[in-house]
Amino acid sequence: MKQPCYCGSQRPFSQCCEPYLVGERLAPTAESLMRSRYSAFCQGNIDYLLATHHPDYRLPDDRTGLKRSVKSTRWQNLLVISKQKGQGRDNTGVVEFVAAYQSVGSILSAQPIGPLQQMHERSQFIKKDDQWLYTEGTMLPPYQPKRSEGCWCGSGKKYKQCHG
Ligand SMILES: [Zn+2]
Ligand SMILES: [Zn+2]
Repeated sequence: MKQPCYCGSQRPFSQCCEPYLVGERLAPTAESLMRSRYSAFCQGNIDYLLATHHPDYRLPDDRTGLKRSVKSTRWQNLLVISKQKGQGRDNTGVVEFVAAYQSVGSILSAQPIGPLQQMHERSQFIKKDDQWLYTEGTMLPPYQPKRSEGCWCGSGKKYKQCHG
């Protein structure tokens, strides 16, 4: 059994995000770039996260911030909710997603692993020199699936049966 991809595509990692993460190929769509950035967060691949963030939107100390974020977060699930453009012929794209995560505290803290939380974001992408790049994202209020839909956390349960 091959390792499934972090991004929840149900495809093997080697045939999904890995070729992008190791620099073998460029992500062909905004969604595939977004998915590969999620996988990079899971793996702690900070170089990839910096390389795929549009230089005009980066902060001077973002490597430190990313390191801290990677260390303190356990990513659990990715759900892509919608996308606009971001295909081969487009130069811009938008992807809305929910990522489920747990905060990881220090070994000494009373609660080393926090409750499951969600990050609901609408991310913007621009294609520059044939390469898709993340620019910035807008945080959205918590995503609520319909009661009979699958939960955002990736448990496989229906939403109404998952979180009280
Ligand atoms: Zn993937
Ligand atoms: Zn759930």
